[in-house]
Amino acid sequence: MREIRSALSGVQGTVRFHEPMSQYTSFRIGGPADALIEPEDEEALRLLMVQARKAKVPVFVIGGTNLLVRDGGIRGIVVRLTKFDRIEEHEGGLLYAQGGVGMPRLLKYALQRKLAGLEFAAGIPGTLAGAIVMNAGTRLGEMKDVVRRVRLVTPSGERRELSADEVGFEYRRTFLPDGIIVGAWLQLRWDPTARSEATVKEALHRRKATQPLALPNAGCVFKNPGGEPAGWLIEAAGLKGAQVGDAQVSPLHANFIVNRGRATARDVLALIRKVGQTVEEKTGVTLQLEVKIVGRA
Ligand SMILES: Cc1cc2nc3c(=O)[nH]c(=O)nc-3n(C[C@H](O)[C@H](O)[C@H](O)COP(=O)(O)OP(=O)(O)OC[C@H]3O[C@@H](n4cnc5c(N)ncnc54)[C@H](O)[C@@H]3O)c2cc1C
Repeated sequence: MREIRSALSGVQGTVRFHEPMSQYTSFRIGGPADALIEPEDEEALRLLMVQARKAKVPVFVIGGTNLLVRDGGIRGIVVRLTKFDRIEEHEGGLLYAQGGVGMPRLLKYALQRKLAGLEFAAGIPGTLAGAIVMNAGTRLGEMKDVVRRVRLVTPSGERRELSADEVGFEYRRTFLPDGIIVGAWLQLRWDPTARSEATVKEALHRRKATQPLALPNAGCVFKNPGGEPAGWLIEAAGLKGAQVGDAQVSPLHANFIVNRGRATARDVLALIRKVGQTVEEKTGVTLQLEVKIVGRA
């Protein structure tokens, strides 16, 4: 704990110790982080990064919607960018938004200004930064289509700007250097018609009908392997409704695991293993995880 205090020393922001991660994940699962900080601004974040490196304390940044945090929690300092919430509109459909801006808010902002290009993100929760790291998307598009530059604070506290090429977007992954994304420039396009709003409305409607949004979850658990979607393979393997403890393969959408109340990370992991093994046995396809598993058992 001494190392953690020295990493946090003089850093402006809201700090909490032994904070249960279940309060910050969409799965409502996860043991405590040694410390959780919401840094005040970029300067505070830079100081934290420098001091954490010096004190050899791991730093992990979250939005919380694509994560399974193990029951033993996260060693070190967890960062949330709740105070990095500014959006700026520039000429020609260019937006700059800070990393902690929620994707639903960003989409709403774009729609209000008649800027098209983000409709694909309708219903994707989490932060802009998390969406960039995951190259989040849907069949309508992905972050790669709109992100032009990314602003990052490195573990040594330097500021870096990366072009979209340097981010290395691929299907639900990127090849970013170590660091924390603090903001990004997005290129959208002016469209005064009501098309974008209609697309978003339809996408949200579709999600409501096909995804188990009433129960805690972390979105799709597995990546689509190419060919049949992961959800279809899981359903075909007869796993809809399969349960370990309070973790259940959603009867509505087989690529979602839902927390029916008191699921632990252990339950979810056991269910993930069962799904992976059964699908492999029955279809020959090895599923890859989309959800990120972090923390200690
Ligand atoms: C109901 C529901 C529906 C969903 N639908 C979709 C969908 O349609 N398409 C889709 O792609 N995803 C979907 N997801 C998954 C998830 O919302 C996305 O992956 C999202 O982009 C993750 O953002 P986050 O801020 O929550 O990041 P997290 O899940 O917290 O983090 C993801 C990764 O990014 C890293 N990270 C986060 N912030 C930063 C930062 N500032 N700097 C550097 N690294 C960072 C984390 O350390 C982690 O490695 C869904 C999830 C839910 C719960």
